[in-house]
Amino acid sequence: AQEAGGNQTVFFDPHMGQWAAERFALEQDLRHGIEQGELRLYLQPQVDAQGRTVSAEALVRWQHPQRGLLSPALFIPLAEESGLIEPLGRWMLEQVCGWLGRLQAQGRRLPLSVNISPRQFQQSDFGERLQELLQRSQAQAGDLMLEFTESVVLHDVERVIERMAALARLGLRFSIDDFGTGYSSLSYLKNLPIHELKIDRSFVQDAPHSPSDAALVAAMLAVASLMKLQVVAEGVETEEQSLLFRHHPGALMQGYLFGRPEPAEELIRRWLAQTVA
Ligand code: C2E
Ligand code: CA
Ligand code: CA
Ligand code: CA
Repeated sequence: AQEAGGNQTVFFDPHMGQWAAERFALEQDLRHGIEQGELRLYLQPQVDAQGRTVSAEALVRWQHPQRGLLSPALFIPLAEESGLIEPLGRWMLEQVCGWLGRLQAQGRRLPLSVNISPRQFQQSDFGERLQELLQRSQAQAGDLMLEFTESVVLHDVERVIERMAALARLGLRFSIDDFGTGYSSLSYLKNLPIHELKIDRSFVQDAPHSPSDAALVAAMLAVASLMKLQVVAEGVETEEQSLLFRHHPGALMQGYLFGRPEPAEELIRRWLAQTVA
C-alpha cells in the first residue's frame, strides 16, 4: 500500500515475476502517457497566518486511461529509476512557467514551487533549459521555487552547489523539502543558497502530543528566522497543529486543513477571484 508523500517503493509483490511484468507495463504506460498528455498539474495552497493563499506547490497527477487518477507515490519512484522523470519534470516546469507567465501578463503574481528530482537536477543542461523556458514563458525567475530533498546533494556536492549558485543568480529560489528528516540537514543551510525550509509533515503531525517533536519544530523555526529563511509547515491537518505556526512571524502552512491539492485552474481561478489586483 502506498502512502501519499512517503518515499517507499510501492510495487511490492511476493511474486517477483509478476512484479517485474507489472512494473514494465506501467513504465510503458507512463512513457506513452507523458507523450499523450495524460499528466495533470495540481496545486496545493500555502497560506499565511490569516489563512490567505500566498503561494502554492505544484504536484503531478497521472490521469491513467484505465486506472483513473494516480497519485505520484505510484509512479514517481518508477519515473526516477527509468529516466522518465526527465520528460515528466520538464512537463511540470513548462506548465508552471506557463501559469506564471499568464498571471504576470495580467499583472498578478503567485509564487509556485516545483519538486525537482536529483536526476533531473543533475542533467547538464538543466539550468540552460530552465533559463530558456523562463524567457519563452515570460515568467519571473523570482516566482519559481525549486524544491529538493537532501538526496540531490548526495553525490558531487561541489557541482550541485555551483549549479544552485548560478540559478540563484538568475533569481530562482530553492527550498529544502522534508527538512529535518535527513541526517545532515543543517550542513545544507551552511553551504547551499537556500531560501526556504519545509518542515516535514512527521514533525508537524506529532508535535502537539510529543515534547521532543515540539522542541524540534521550535528549533527549526528559530534556525529559519535567525537565518532569514522562509519556512513552510507541511501536512497541517488540525487547528491544534496550526497553532504551532500561526504566531511565528512569516511562517506559511500547507496541509489538508487549508486545502488539498486540486487542478491548477481551479486553485488559480479562486485565487484570482479572492485577491484584488
Ligand atoms: P512532497 O513533495 O513532500 O509533497 C507533499 C505531499 O504531501 C503531497 O502528496 C501532498 O498531497 C501531501 N499532503 C499535503 N498536505 C497534507 C496533509 O495535510 N496530510 C497528509 N497526510 N498529506 C498531505 P502527493 O501529491 O501525493 O505527492 C507525493 C510526493 O510525490 C511528493 O511529496 C513529491 O516527493 C513527489 N512529487 C509530486 N509531484 C512531483 C513532481 O512533479 N516531481 C517530482 N520529482 N516529485 C513529485
Ligand atoms: Ca515527502
Ligand atoms: Ca515538495
Ligand atoms: Ca515534503
